[in-house]
Amino acid sequence: MEQVTIIVFLGFFALEFLVEFILNELNLRHVRARLEQQRVPEFFEGKIAPQDYLKSAHYTLAKGRFQRWAQVYGSLVALFILFGGPLPSLDGLSRDIGGLFPAGFKAQGIFFCFAVALSFSLSSLPTGLYSTFVIEQRFGFNRTTLKLYFIDRLKGLLVSLVIGAPFLLGVLYLMEESGRHWWLWAFMLILAFEILMVMLYPTLIAPLFNKFEPLKEGELRARILALAEKSGFKTSGIYTMDGSRRSTHSNAYFTGLGKSKRIVLFDTLLEQVTPEQGLAVLAHEIGHYRLKHIRKMLALQGIFVFAGLYILSLLIDYEPLFRAFGLVPSSHAALVLFSLLSGPFTFYLAPLMNFLWRRHEYEADRFAAKILEEARAMEEALMNLTAKNLSNLTPHPWYSAYHYSHPSPAERIRAIRRQA
Ligand SMILES: [Zn+2]
Repeated sequence: MEQVTIIVFLGFFALEFLVEFILNELNLRHVRARLEQQRVPEFFEGKIAPQDYLKSAHYTLAKGRFQRWAQVYGSLVALFILFGGPLPSLDGLSRDIGGLFPAGFKAQGIFFCFAVALSFSLSSLPTGLYSTFVIEQRFGFNRTTLKLYFIDRLKGLLVSLVIGAPFLLGVLYLMEESGRHWWLWAFMLILAFEILMVMLYPTLIAPLFNKFEPLKEGELRARILALAEKSGFKTSGIYTMDGSRRSTHSNAYFTGLGKSKRIVLFDTLLEQVTPEQGLAVLAHEIGHYRLKHIRKMLALQGIFVFAGLYILSLLIDYEPLFRAFGLVPSSHAALVLFSLLSGPFTFYLAPLMNFLWRRHEYEADRFAAKILEEARAMEEALMNLTAKNLSNLTPHPWYSAYHYSHPSPAERIRAIRRQA
């Protein structure tokens, strides 16, 4: 049975690799073919400068070419960790370390989960460094230093340790001590944890990495406050963030739940847009809030977690699954195997999730146009930010349908024009 388990997994693993690889190649060809015409794509003519278009195409091609190697490398690392021996050795090591603590601490399980996560995190360093310090650098986006980069990674690890250890303790405890219906209890714990994280992220975690400040005085501030008031958003929840410390890419987002909800505008965005465009971006983010998009995504995630845990509750007694990867059955081994092996199966849910995300983006754009009583500023903001961020003007439709959480610039602008 071990062989069958391995063959089924490898089959799906290879299929995921192939689909991903083909999508990337299609996108590269599509962009290259368009670039050969040496003219701004019709839809953007007169709106995006020729040199910006050329630069954006070269940026997309550079990222796509690197993606080939990053994907091969990432797959080899995953195969090595699964089949090359690290899993059983890390499990043995965690047993030794776990023996030093009282059993109620679930130290072996927690240590094993972190050791595996750390292996993946360390192995992603080379590709992470290359994309930041070579590709982003070459196109003038990178502002981070090697020092800041490593401090960020280290901080990220510490935060996940501090938050993750008690969370894992809870999950492992329920798996081992709460009987046959453990997965229902675990579902409630995970859901409560996710909601708590959404509430704590903006005020507790994000400030560990960036500085957040209330909007400064100025023309835009007065107009933003007026707009927030008109659309029912608490104005004390609007912040600027020093995104420029790491990158010149610009962005804005809505985050949080309850009292912690806030809209964050990158300082880079405020430098790049006119007051009208900035206002349109803000109206779009208020749209995400008014249309309850965070709650809807949490609910959807809840469904996935529920289904995932149910499947895990069926697999946990299937011994060949553990033996196939050289492990003895245990709750922590089940958790780790499940999270490592599920990727090639859940990969096909990504386009569905992205489809729903994109629908939320259209809805927020529509909301912005309605509240501003005009659509021109939103369209101009999109054109402007597309040019500044060197976004791909001509993605292959299959690639964007699969991978894009936001509709492509042309799709968004067309939708705005249709309803104007
Ligand atoms: Zn949005």
